[in-house]
Amino acid sequence: QKASAFAHKDETAVTLDGVRFEIAGNIAKVSDAQKLVEMGGEAVGLLRSEFLYQDQSVAPSEDDQEQVYRAVLQTLGQRPLVVRTLDVGGDKPLAYLPLPKEDNPFLGERGIRVGLDKPAVLRQQVRALLKAAEAGNLRIMFPMVASLFELKLAKQVVKEEAEKLAIDISGIQIGIMIEVPSAAVMADVLAEHVDFFSIGTNDLTQYTLAIDRGHPKLAAIADGLHPAVLRLIDMTVKAAHAKGKWAGICGGLAGEKDAVPILVGLGIDELSVSVPSIPEVKHQVRHLNQQACQLIAAKAMSCADAKDVRALMRDPNTLLA
Ligand code: PEP
Ligand code: MG
Repeated sequence: QKASAFAHKDETAVTLDGVRFEIAGNIAKVSDAQKLVEMGGEAVGLLRSEFLYQDQSVAPSEDDQEQVYRAVLQTLGQRPLVVRTLDVGGDKPLAYLPLPKEDNPFLGERGIRVGLDKPAVLRQQVRALLKAAEAGNLRIMFPMVASLFELKLAKQVVKEEAEKLAIDISGIQIGIMIEVPSAAVMADVLAEHVDFFSIGTNDLTQYTLAIDRGHPKLAAIADGLHPAVLRLIDMTVKAAHAKGKWAGICGGLAGEKDAVPILVGLGIDELSVSVPSIPEVKHQVRHLNQQACQLIAAKAMSCADAKDVRALMRDPNTLLA
C-alpha cells in the first residue's frame, strides 16, 4: 500500500464521489520545501517560522528573513505557502527572544500575544514577508488568536507595513490558526475578517480538554478525536464556509488514519500533514466516499468520548456503511 501510495504521489486527492481535497505539508526549514515538492505536496499549510532561527542567540536580520522566505517561495513555484508568524512561548522557547517566567506559560504570553507585545519583532517579520511575497504565492497566518481585537491589531500591522513599503497586498491571503476554543466558538465572527482558518488541533485539544500537550502522564488521553474537539472543528468549518472562506487543518490530527475520514466528512478543505505522510494521506482520501464520511463524522460527534470515536473508526463496518 505504501508503494502504491508513493507511485501516485503527484496526483490530486479526489474522493470516490469526486470531491477534491488539498493535501499540504507542515515545514520548519528551507530544505523541507524541496522534500515537500518531491512528496507531491500541493502547498505548505504551515511554515512554523519560530523554528527557522530556533538555535540562534541573536535575532535574524530583516534581509536574512526575506531571503529565507524567498527561497521557500521559489522552491514551491506556484504552490501556496502559509507562513505562520512567530509562535513563541508555551512549549516553544526562542533563544533570542527570552520571555518572562510564568506560572502557566501555556496560558500566558504566547503566539500573537508576544507579537503584539513586541511589535518591532512582528513588524520586522511582516516586512520581510511582504518583500518576499513577489517570489510566489504567500499567505500570512497569525497563531493563538483568541479574540477579534488581536486579529484586528495584527492585520493593522500588515496594512501599515505594506503601505510604508508601497506593496499591494490584495493578492496575499491573511488567516489565523484556530487553536483556542474561544476562536472556534466565535469562528462566525472571525471569519468575516480573514481569508482562511487553519485548525491547530494540538493546541485546540490541549485547551479544550485542559490537558497540557506535553504532560508525561496525561498527554496520552489528550486525544484530538474527542467529540468536543470534533464539534469545535465542525463549527469552524461551517463558519468559514458560510462566509465563503476556506478552512484547513494543520495539527497532528490531519495526518492520523483514524481521523482523515472524519475530517473529510466535516468538509475541511485542506489537510496539512508531516511531509513524509503526504502520499499516504492522498491515497487514503482517494479511497473514501465523502457522503459516507459525512455520516461517519455525524456519528463521531455524537459519541460520548474519544475512546468511542476510536472504536467507531476501528470497526471494519464503519467505512463500508
Ligand atoms: C497546533 O497547535 O495544532 C499547531 C499546528 O501548532 P503547533 O503544534 O506548532 O503549536
Ligand atoms: Mg499551536
